[in-house]
Amino acid sequence: MFCWLSRLYRGLSRPTRRTTQLIWGSFSRSLVLSSQRRIPELSSFVARTNTCGELRSSHLGQEVTLCGWIQYRRQNIFLVLRDFHGLVQVIIPQDESAASVKKILCEAPMESVVQVSGTVISRPPGQENPKMPTGEIEIKVKTAKLLNSCKKLPFEIKDFVKKTEALRLRYRYLDLRGVQMQYNLRLRSQMVMKMREYLCNLHGFVDIETPTLFKRTPGGAKEFVIPSREPGKFYSLPQSPQQFKQLLMVGGLDRYFQVARCYRDEGSRPDRQPEFTQIDIEMSFVEQTGIQSLIEGLLQYSWPSDRDPVVVPFPSMTFAEALASYGTDKPDTRFGMKIVDISDMFRNTEVGFLQDALSKPQGTIKAICIPEGEKYLKRKDIESIRKFAADHFNQEVLPIFLKTNNNWNSPVAKFIMEEQGLGLIRLLETQEEDVVLLTAGEHKKACSLLGKLRLECADLLEARGVALRDPALFSFLWVVDFPLFFPKEENPEELETAHHPFTAPHPSDIHHLYTEPQKVRSQHYDLVLNGSEIGGGSIRIHDAELQHYILATVLKEDVKLLSHLLQALDYGAPPHGGIAIDYHRALRRVPCAVQ
Ligand code: ASP
Repeated sequence: MFCWLSRLYRGLSRPTRRTTQLIWGSFSRSLVLSSQRRIPELSSFVARTNTCGELRSSHLGQEVTLCGWIQYRRQNIFLVLRDFHGLVQVIIPQDESAASVKKILCEAPMESVVQVSGTVISRPPGQENPKMPTGEIEIKVKTAKLLNSCKKLPFEIKDFVKKTEALRLRYRYLDLRGVQMQYNLRLRSQMVMKMREYLCNLHGFVDIETPTLFKRTPGGAKEFVIPSREPGKFYSLPQSPQQFKQLLMVGGLDRYFQVARCYRDEGSRPDRQPEFTQIDIEMSFVEQTGIQSLIEGLLQYSWPSDRDPVVVPFPSMTFAEALASYGTDKPDTRFGMKIVDISDMFRNTEVGFLQDALSKPQGTIKAICIPEGEKYLKRKDIESIRKFAADHFNQEVLPIFLKTNNNWNSPVAKFIMEEQGLGLIRLLETQEEDVVLLTAGEHKKACSLLGKLRLECADLLEARGVALRDPALFSFLWVVDFPLFFPKEENPEELETAHHPFTAPHPSDIHHLYTEPQKVRSQHYDLVLNGSEIGGGSIRIHDAELQHYILATVLKEDVKLLSHLLQALDYGAPPHGGIAIDYHRALRRVPCAVQ
């Protein structure tokens, strides 16, 4: 790097500061322009003149050479050729003199790969296909070459042909030939390119690769271990470049980013694979709002142009509010059915389990209202909801079916006093035919259960035709003010970090850290899209003493394993913070256009 820079300087007649700035300025401007200006040349360097999908009436009369896969053949006269760019109709010559061309094109099995050369002609009047972008033209073939034949396929290469996930994975290379998969990978590549452009060219970030062979460090997810050649010695694969990017801040690289591979040995979950990609970012001298604006701008800039634009700023919700209203730290805010606390309504209740819950210190009564649930939820749905609550949360759920005249149908209807009923209607804004699901217990547990049931019921309603969530809507949300620590599930006396151990405490709660650490909120923020966490980050601790205290005293971690970081913080580490966007999860939320 230095050597390259010094060569650049030496090549200049006057290596003044001003000249250098001009060079850098025009360098970055030309990068911006070059990526925006040019339509990519899709047929350079290869054995074709055009792609199958690009030919139009404007190409009439042109001699072209195309390479692609045989998608259809009809009556040994028409052949449809496909490449990543689209489909084009080819006319198989019927005259004697072209018998060898006809033989190749008629005998090659479907999905064989061929090269054809010929003339672009217009289709006879009335035979145009307006559904095909190339539907006005066809190719009058003169020569053809079979580049490679295709064996009998395990499934047809057509997106509408259903295949199991296992089969798709086994023949991934065939699955990738489909329109949807092609679209997904190309969309990903375009978005990453725009993100790089935004970060590097518009905001001066530096793309830095960090090591993937590292040592074990405490906290967080389980790491993969890689045996070395030296018996008994192993590497760990990093769960993220977190420590490296913080060290880069200490090194003065104050705007870092990386399209980073992360490895977590957690077993596959529906929304997480053992290895996945993050857009990993870190900045010095920044606060939470700075990171949030950066990410809003980044997503707005790189968002696919064929989608509704991203609207910024994204709304923000505290962790406490997300838990109380949606029962989760990643609320799907595309629909209502929020959790409502109805404890006050039931202070004088005669219903045993409600009474019981309220008599406990953290006891609450909570409810959600399922609009028109009476119409859409079957008895067996309610039964399985109650079973789910009992099996997974050890909680009771009471369904209340609201009838006309407030004549309710519920196992406890006779115990619900009139003013309680009216109060419920008011608080939950219920209407006739709605179903209320009610539960009682400790705040977090009751909210978590109802949060799960809210999503479950939304799926059920949608499966029965109710339009609850707009599939075209992107509902971004910042969740902020998380607790810095959570009690460990297996031992609630001990604490673990909510994000990671490098997250800074909220400045207004720092006084609790030494006495009641569980009360401290953090400077951690998550980005949620349509109910899925797609990113998270925090302002970091840059004070070695504070970091040591949290690691050693609160989290009871072996600080020796992080001595490299603690030491670095002592050498003038700047205040810093960052975020990582989980690229795969984010993209999974972008519904793709199936052509
Ligand atoms: N390294 C964190 C993660 O992977 C993100 C961050 O705090 O920047 O979740």
